[in-house]
Amino acid sequence: MSDRPIVIKNQPEIELMREAGKVNALVLKTLEEMIQPGISTQELDAVAEDIILQNRGKPAFKNYPGPYPYPATLTISINEELVHGIPGKRKLKEGDLVSIDCGTVLDGFVADSAFSTGVGEISPEVRKLLEVTEKALYLGIEKLRLGNRVGDVSAAIQTFVESHNFHVPREYTGHGVGRNMHEGPLVPNFGTSGRGIPLRPGITVAVEPMVMVGTHKTRVLEDQWTVISADRSLTAHFEHSVAVTEAEPIILTAL
Ligand code: MG
Ligand code: MG
Repeated sequence: MSDRPIVIKNQPEIELMREAGKVNALVLKTLEEMIQPGISTQELDAVAEDIILQNRGKPAFKNYPGPYPYPATLTISINEELVHGIPGKRKLKEGDLVSIDCGTVLDGFVADSAFSTGVGEISPEVRKLLEVTEKALYLGIEKLRLGNRVGDVSAAIQTFVESHNFHVPREYTGHGVGRNMHEGPLVPNFGTSGRGIPLRPGITVAVEPMVMVGTHKTRVLEDQWTVISADRSLTAHFEHSVAVTEAEPIILTAL
């Protein structure tokens, strides 16, 4: 992804991305309300696809090129699964930590966002991991301002996560988003403030802290998509697509 071009969006394009983002937000909000012990990940996937299609959209992840074309609308990653878990017959259990990532294409633009939540009663450890990961997302977004560089976003996320003795992966990062789901620049969850490309109005990026309890190391399961923490420790993931402007960053994937 690193050599993909950065595509600056004008105001009408940002408004179209906001519309795609609203559909994506509606999907995630609906799913969040459905999360409970006993529901299968394929049930959640079917609901997501319905909402996207009813709103004139297309699932952005389905058939995404990879080891083989991605087979579903969502990625649903449970506990040690960090990202890219494939929905199926597996049912959520009390105490699980589930991360749901969704992409919607509407009028030619992609929205990409994700959240994590607990299933039923959760342990204090799960609660803390959720709080730290979500807070890291907003600390990163806060740095998406004219005058800053990508490294300021990365450093804000890494510093906060590591201050809680949690870890960020090196192989999976945030990214530019627009007519393509993955554009430049990369937005790593680790880095140095003051480094990287300068942020300017019209840059649109998906900021997505991924956080692991044990170490920063990951591995990919035999299904060739699911990424887990190498030590199988708990993981969480939050994501918004955001536009850099002259003033405040605009979260494109809020309701
Ligand atoms: Mg995503
Ligand atoms: Mg993304």
